Amino acid sequence: MDVSTVVMNKIKEAKVISFKQPSLAFDMSKEAYDIAKANNLKLEEAYALFAMALACRSMTKLNDCFNYAFDASKLFEIYDKPVELAGALNLIGVVYFYNAMYETALENFLRALHMLEETRDSLTMSRILNNMGEVYKEVGNVEEALVSYNSAMNLCEKYNYMTNIAVILENLGEIYFIKKDYAYSFECYKRSYDILIENNNITALSEVENKIGKIHFIKKEYGKARECYNNALSRLEGIENKFFSIDVLMNLAELERLENQGLFLFYLNKAIKYGEEINARKKLSQIYKIITEFYERKADFRLSLEFYKKYHTMEQKIETTAISHKLEIIKIELSKLFSEEEAEKITKLNKQLEKDMGSQNLLLHKMEKVNKELSVKIISDELTNIPNRRGVKNYISKVWQESEISPINLAFLMIDIDHFKRYNDYYGHLQGDNCLKKIASCLKSVFGNKYGILGRFGGEEFVCFIRGIEYNQVLESAELLRSSIEKLDFNYIWNNGCYPVTISIGGVHGRRSDFKTSQDMYLIADKELYKAKNSGRNKVFLRNHNMY
Ligand code: GH3
Ligand code: MG
Ligand code: MG
Repeated sequence: MDVSTVVMNKIKEAKVISFKQPSLAFDMSKEAYDIAKANNLKLEEAYALFAMALACRSMTKLNDCFNYAFDASKLFEIYDKPVELAGALNLIGVVYFYNAMYETALENFLRALHMLEETRDSLTMSRILNNMGEVYKEVGNVEEALVSYNSAMNLCEKYNYMTNIAVILENLGEIYFIKKDYAYSFECYKRSYDILIENNNITALSEVENKIGKIHFIKKEYGKARECYNNALSRLEGIENKFFSIDVLMNLAELERLENQGLFLFYLNKAIKYGEEINARKKLSQIYKIITEFYERKADFRLSLEFYKKYHTMEQKIETTAISHKLEIIKIELSKLFSEEEAEKITKLNKQLEKDMGSQNLLLHKMEKVNKELSVKIISDELTNIPNRRGVKNYISKVWQESEISPINLAFLMIDIDHFKRYNDYYGHLQGDNCLKKIASCLKSVFGNKYGILGRFGGEEFVCFIRGIEYNQVLESAELLRSSIEKLDFNYIWNNGCYPVTISIGGVHGRRSDFKTSQDMYLIADKELYKAKNSGRNKVFLRNHNMY
């Protein structure tokens, strides 16, 4: 046997196992490469490089994959091997795809297809077409994706490439799912499933089974959905495939969300655990978002905010790593480019990079805005649009800390609508809400915000926290608040009499250094309010703390 045959046999063997044992496949190809190089067998060297690239792809070592595929492509070009060149370009395209550089990916796929025009190597062609479908799907061009997948399918069916057929069917199923053609989507998945179960391809099988479950879920066939998910999950956990297990767990959580919140959180927590173990950032980010929305619906804004922050941080991490991966690829490209014609390419790559940086900034901007909106939302009262209890408390604790040992004057007022229950009983709750809104806006406009904060403490209770003004000024302000509500002239009927809506105010004024805690002020104000109510309502009682 001559050296060339030895090398080519090694490469052939390596390619066969490159999916199941990629690291062994890589070592074998590397050995073949070394022999080829030592014997100056250029073409064999190219085949070995390509096999190394394939193995790297299986191990998701994308930079290495790019490196070897690039070197192989140059040699295939020189030695005029269009089919092999197409294979290498396809791999290069795949790396670009994984780095979200879709245009460049597509350029490489198209160039690869072009290489095959004469030989029409159908297996390679179908792979490239399928990959093109992936790009189109990823960028949301569903119709183009369909065209590509269907062309890929036609080729595979003609030559009976069963494994490829299963893969393409799954992709087609996804497209019909997006198009909401669930019947056809189901059929595609089912056909894919039947092929995969025969080939015992557990990962792909579970993936499809999970997707079938999702269709059952959409059709509200919850029992069947659960069965599919559980089957898929136990298969995937059996082979310790955490990556796809996360998808299934997320679907299970979605299934349980309305019925069983405990189970919902259990599945998502398990998914988070897996996600952290394998550092699946995209998935973690999705899960954090789901939990954020869950707590938001429950009006638990503290937990909602906590998970929103996790989501936000993760999104930033993803964006930053994406860009650093792109930079890495571009660096490799630069190291390979020395001809003049390719200087043009460098300019193009730089532009692409600038564009990506731009969209990164845009994203950050958007995030900041959402973050700000959420921060405002959690300290505002939904009905009246003034600060809520949390907002007021935040404000007070800020002032409290800032003025720890200072003799600054502070005042705290509690404002409670008189006999509001009667108003509600007479007009109904909806009208009651309207009244609350109007009272809030009247109080707000009278109080202003120069000296402190006015907020809704809950129910028909409002509070003011005031800083820096004298006792008499506070008393005047409180009186003004009281009389302005009286003047609104909102009336209700009770016991055959007509009564105006009024408020009672209890408050305290004193120096910051005279109170131990802000709670002290609250308790005194509450006592004063009680007095105001007991002495006939529509009154202001303001204690001068320094006088005691
Ligand atoms: P008092 O003068 O002693 O304060 O009498 P009151 O009826 O205002 O006090 P009470 O605490 O007995 O009842 C408060 C009522 O306020 C109960 C409820 O009907 C009404 N209320 C509380 N929150 C809201 C709300 O958000 N919307 C509406 N429409 N009514 C509310
Ligand atoms: Mg009350
Ligand atoms: Mg009241």
